[in-house]
Amino acid sequence: MIPFLDLKAQYQQIKPRVDEAIASVVASAQFVLGPEVTRFEDRFAAYCKVSHCRAVNSGTSALHLALLAAGVGPGDEVITVSMTFVATTAAILYSGARPVFVDVDPVTWTMDPALIEAAITPRTKAILPVHLHGLMAEMDPIMAIARRHGLVVIEDAAQAHGAEYRGRRAGSIGDLGCFSFYPGKNLGAYGEAGAIVTDRPDLVHKLSLLRDWGQAAKYDHVLPGYNYRMDGIQGAVLNVKMDYIESWTEARRAIAAHYDRLLAKCEFARPQPPAHSRHVYHVYAIGLSGRDEVLRSLQKSGIGAGIHYPVPVHLQKAYANLGYHAGDFPVTEHLAGTFLSLPIYPELTPENVAEVVTQLERAALVEAV
Ligand SMILES: *Cc1c(COP(=O)(O)O)cnc(C)c1O
Repeated sequence: MIPFLDLKAQYQQIKPRVDEAIASVVASAQFVLGPEVTRFEDRFAAYCKVSHCRAVNSGTSALHLALLAAGVGPGDEVITVSMTFVATTAAILYSGARPVFVDVDPVTWTMDPALIEAAITPRTKAILPVHLHGLMAEMDPIMAIARRHGLVVIEDAAQAHGAEYRGRRAGSIGDLGCFSFYPGKNLGAYGEAGAIVTDRPDLVHKLSLLRDWGQAAKYDHVLPGYNYRMDGIQGAVLNVKMDYIESWTEARRAIAAHYDRLLAKCEFARPQPPAHSRHVYHVYAIGLSGRDEVLRSLQKSGIGAGIHYPVPVHLQKAYANLGYHAGDFPVTEHLAGTFLSLPIYPELTPENVAEVVTQLERAALVEAV
């Protein structure tokens, strides 16, 4: 049995420190925001190489507040991708704006910058690229287009903690960057959590207000806000994990390199990060035909493979009223039909990786016969 993810193995490694951190929050009764959360905000801002961070209660809340802080609202359009988790689209709709999809690039699997300008209308307010699987979108051309048209850029970095593009960290290039600390993410809390990072001082105060009922002071509500505050316990757990995030990220990259080596002789499509990018491999996905049968066979042999994501957002029933159809985004739809995610987490051993590849080759061979 090789699971897709093993959060219990990670807990065993850091158990004494995490248990103590949680106990100290309980003892202090600082359950919401508080000193652990503030300390985490400072550390995470430094990690992302930005000046400000505001902690919230999920990645989805982070996206929602980033859009509101940037002034996005009803009547506006936000250009994003359909090859993502639904939260990206949902947050745009929460803000009252309309999501406008563009296709992804067949090599990087992220927003294709060549398609953005054709999607811009007088209503376009923002561009929201997604750093899918932990590889950053091509930010230079995206920023150039945004500056030319006066658009805000919000990075969905929910899968990309510590990823880099030309030496700059995920979340630090756009006007705002949004992170999720859902337990399974590369930096995971022990419950729901998220954060927004930015270098723009003009937006920070608004983020602070919006996440806490729009309160400038207790019972002084200057904006209609939300209850999007981070728990003290999540801040404490994340502070422990900040000491490990770089070594865990390097472990993920080493596992990905091992997969790359073992799969080099196979026919599968593999991630191809450009030389100027640091991919942090939240997901290690390959592309292959007959994917569904191979996945079933892998699961039967105890390999916890998965798909990220099998149905793109524009073909989800919940978002049918956006008016998109099958065939609208050929690269996205091809990837959705061929993507297969292999187990990847820092505790995975080289023997585990070899076993996954052996089982994968066996399953693909049976499928090819
Ligand atoms: C996980 C994720 C989100 C949402 O984060 P939550 O913390 O689960 O709300 C948004 N976008 C992407 C790309 C994600 O992977």
